[in-house]
Amino acid sequence: MTQSMTTAKPLLIGGEWRTTDQTLTAHNPATGEILGEVCTGDAAEIDAAVRAARAAFPGWRAAGEAERKQALRRLHRVLAERRDEIADLISRENGKPVMEALSADVLVSLDSLAYYIKHGTRELAPERLKLQQRLLIGHRADVVYEPAGVIGIIAPWNVPLAIPLSQVAAALIVGNTVVLKPSEWTPLIGHAIAQLCAAAELPPGVVNVVAGAGATGAALASHPGTQRIVFTGSVATGKKVAVACAQRLCPCVLELGGVGAAIVRADADPQLAARGVVWSRFVNNGQVCVATQRVYVNQRIAQPFVVAVAQETRKLRRHTEHQRGYDVGPLINPAATERVKSQIADAVANGATVLVGGSCGNGQAGTAIEPTVLTNVSPQMTVMRDETFGPLLAIMPVADDAEAIDQANSLPLGLAMSVWTHDVDAGAVLARQLESGMVWINDGPVYYADPTIPWGGVKESGFGRTHGRWGLHALADVKVIARSRPGPRIWWFPYTPLVQRLLDVGIALLHEAGPRAKLRGMLRALLR
Ligand code: NDP
Repeated sequence: MTQSMTTAKPLLIGGEWRTTDQTLTAHNPATGEILGEVCTGDAAEIDAAVRAARAAFPGWRAAGEAERKQALRRLHRVLAERRDEIADLISRENGKPVMEALSADVLVSLDSLAYYIKHGTRELAPERLKLQQRLLIGHRADVVYEPAGVIGIIAPWNVPLAIPLSQVAAALIVGNTVVLKPSEWTPLIGHAIAQLCAAAELPPGVVNVVAGAGATGAALASHPGTQRIVFTGSVATGKKVAVACAQRLCPCVLELGGVGAAIVRADADPQLAARGVVWSRFVNNGQVCVATQRVYVNQRIAQPFVVAVAQETRKLRRHTEHQRGYDVGPLINPAATERVKSQIADAVANGATVLVGGSCGNGQAGTAIEPTVLTNVSPQMTVMRDETFGPLLAIMPVADDAEAIDQANSLPLGLAMSVWTHDVDAGAVLARQLESGMVWINDGPVYYADPTIPWGGVKESGFGRTHGRWGLHALADVKVIARSRPGPRIWWFPYTPLVQRLLDVGIALLHEAGPRAKLRGMLRALLR
């Protein structure tokens, strides 16, 4: 971070634009070009933002469905109007092709907003319970979903608009207010979200945006004024967030990393599966939490599949000077490049073959690695164990489905996996055996685009869900409202021998096994 220049984009706190002395510089990862500066906040700004969100909460909660939906409609309209400008910014600051900025970020954000506007409150409608306790005949219990309060959202850079904005939309429709900490690698897009909220005339303090680095996120995760933390990022940081939340018993949703596995069954069309797997790996230049990294292909079709993957990968057009007209953008930063390089080096040192790519030239840091495919890999290699988050695909032949399932389940992570097969129903049966939050049959990360589908992982890939009814419920408090007409109850004081006997008779009647035992139990209770 550097000292602020006057042009640095301000933070949004309590409906006001606030400048600070510290700034982040935003770069185009492909060219290194400086795109702008954004003011950053530390614990003081996070505290101010949480206080502003807390102050705005009663009004926003009381505003009711209609007003909240109206506000989200305005946000939807503003984003739809500015979509070209926003997609262009995403492409320049994150490096992804404009096509991916439009599809994975802008469209997903618009669809999420539309979904929450149309269905959000219905998903949170009160539920009347069918009571099972016979003693409560005549009583009624309803579950209602209350807004939790202030939601802290900590976002990554790889889907820098749709991840935070869809989470903000979910929080708002429930009736919560928000403090958002965008990634330090995409601060301009974080600022664009703040601008969208301001343009949509959300009431002051309902959404607050504080740019910053890890310490800013840590301040948010540990702030006692937040009632939920929704964190999307790496497993390592997710564990720190979980600890911070545990210390104050604040529930959190953790959307963490994965080492996505694809199982290509013997009955799959090798050409088609290859095209799908190549997209599932190299979309967003591999910088996708649910990307396919490990492929377990049945040995009967391994040869044509590998040939087809090589052909499809060679066709990918890498980033050039022109923003439009490429399939694969740059990596976000030099550390990402080093991670991919080291996995390639580890694999090669342990006997892997570089089938395609592998070049680690001296070009711009972001563009130095070609889309790379490895064969002759083994489970011990880092590429088969650790998240690459870059353009590296490893293919391993397996004897049968059982071996593929064993390999796929062998890691402590379980975010997303895919099955490629002609027999879709058999694929669905196989899917039940995979330890993964999501399993896709004959496709890849496209399911992120549907706002009704719960999103999240198992094992160390995190817990809780965003999206759909599950995502909304994660941001609400479950409250039971039980009611009964006024009147005395037999279970109130004083306890009498008669009531105790009746209770015992009832237990015998309901819970002894078989008519004889019931009769015996009831007699025993009556004669006691
Ligand atoms: P990081 O974990 O590095 O960062 C995520 C966010 O946390 C950033 O805003 C970061 O700030 C912030 N942060 C850093 N340190 C702390 C801390 N101690 N306390 C609180 N917040 C902190 O992840 P990346 O941004 O690099 O994103 C890539 C990772 O995210 C991959 O592992 C990927 O799999 C995962 N991911 C998971 C998704 C899912 O839905 N499951 C979706 C997308 C990505 P800063 O950027 O300033 O460091």
